[in-house]
Amino acid sequence: MKVTLQNLTKIYPSRNKKQPKEVVAVSNFNFEIADGQLIGLLGPSGCGKSTTLNLLSGLQKPTSGKIFFGDDDVTDLPAENRGVGLVFQNYALYPHLTVKQNITFPLENLKGKDKLSKEKMAEMALEAARLVQIDELMDRKPAELSGGQQQRVAIARALVKNPRILLLDEPLSNLDARLRLQTREEIRRIQRSTGITTIFVTHDQEEAMSISDLIVVMKEGVVHQIGKPQEVYDEPANLFVAKFLGTPPINVFNAAVKEGKLFIGEEAVLNVGNIAEGEVVAAIRPEGFVVDKNGVFTCDLERVEVMGRDISVVATHKESQNEVIRAIVGSENLASVNGATVRFSLKRNKVYVFKKENGERLF
Ligand code: ADP
Ligand code: MG
Repeated sequence: MKVTLQNLTKIYPSRNKKQPKEVVAVSNFNFEIADGQLIGLLGPSGCGKSTTLNLLSGLQKPTSGKIFFGDDDVTDLPAENRGVGLVFQNYALYPHLTVKQNITFPLENLKGKDKLSKEKMAEMALEAARLVQIDELMDRKPAELSGGQQQRVAIARALVKNPRILLLDEPLSNLDARLRLQTREEIRRIQRSTGITTIFVTHDQEEAMSISDLIVVMKEGVVHQIGKPQEVYDEPANLFVAKFLGTPPINVFNAAVKEGKLFIGEEAVLNVGNIAEGEVVAAIRPEGFVVDKNGVFTCDLERVEVMGRDISVVATHKESQNEVIRAIVGSENLASVNGATVRFSLKRNKVYVFKKENGERLF
């Protein structure tokens, strides 16, 4: 099912008379989610991810704009008639019901011609449970399950009515690191096998990058970039997107452009051609550094961290906006990185230049 957001806006009124400032939680969203895709809504806490999801589910009404599922305008359709499956961070299972009863719950309330027989409900519950591989656990109560299993139950419950769209709001946040990885792969597998259009909300860039067909990077209710994970990483639209994606994070410097050259401090580090001269912000991905004794860019060496295949060269520079600079290079460089300074040459496609005033990308 294709999903379309058209000029979608949600404004919360101010609650505080002294600070009469409303919150624009979702500002004029316009994008389309193709049928069968998994799209990641990514951004820091408070950027409007949950609000967007609640508008899609019908739990909240937009201030303006429209939502379409396929060709159907669902903007005024009540939540229960939209055919969405919802999964939240905190599972929200009924503690006194068994796994089977929890999964069956959404089917119990169907009325009239939609009413199902006990047998049909049991069959559908089992099918959903099999999909998330908890069909052995049907008679347990939630308290008798691990966090990962509880989240699987919640996913099975969301899938049991064969929803048109699956919405997941930070579904992995309550799980420990290993389970998070495993459950994330599980969600991807289920999404692929059912082909159900899925919107996955997270503040974790690595999670969004690894699971999504497309990511929507948001900040303060505004969409900053939409693209495939690799595109958004390689071609960030602005400084916010560049900084939000990638671990270790991108290294950011106060810099200047003079006569077609990018200067960090006194060193000309890259030819950037014909872009506007003046003060700028330069950013270099950790993998954009090459240890080179004749390199163009000199930093003060702090220490080297060994990571196995790679090493992390930790350095400082007076123009760095980060406390330390991190360069990830091959471990064969270990012997040559020593002394008070380290010199690098730079990979051209890993260096970005942004406008100082608004972070817009120049190079
Ligand atoms: P996220 O899920 O990305 O953390 P939310 O969608 O929950 O963000 O919130 C977006 C913004 O809207 C935040 O500034 C938040 O404080 C505000 N907000 C969320 N819900 C309400 C509400 N019911 N009333 C007023 N403001 C709200
Ligand atoms: Mg949220």
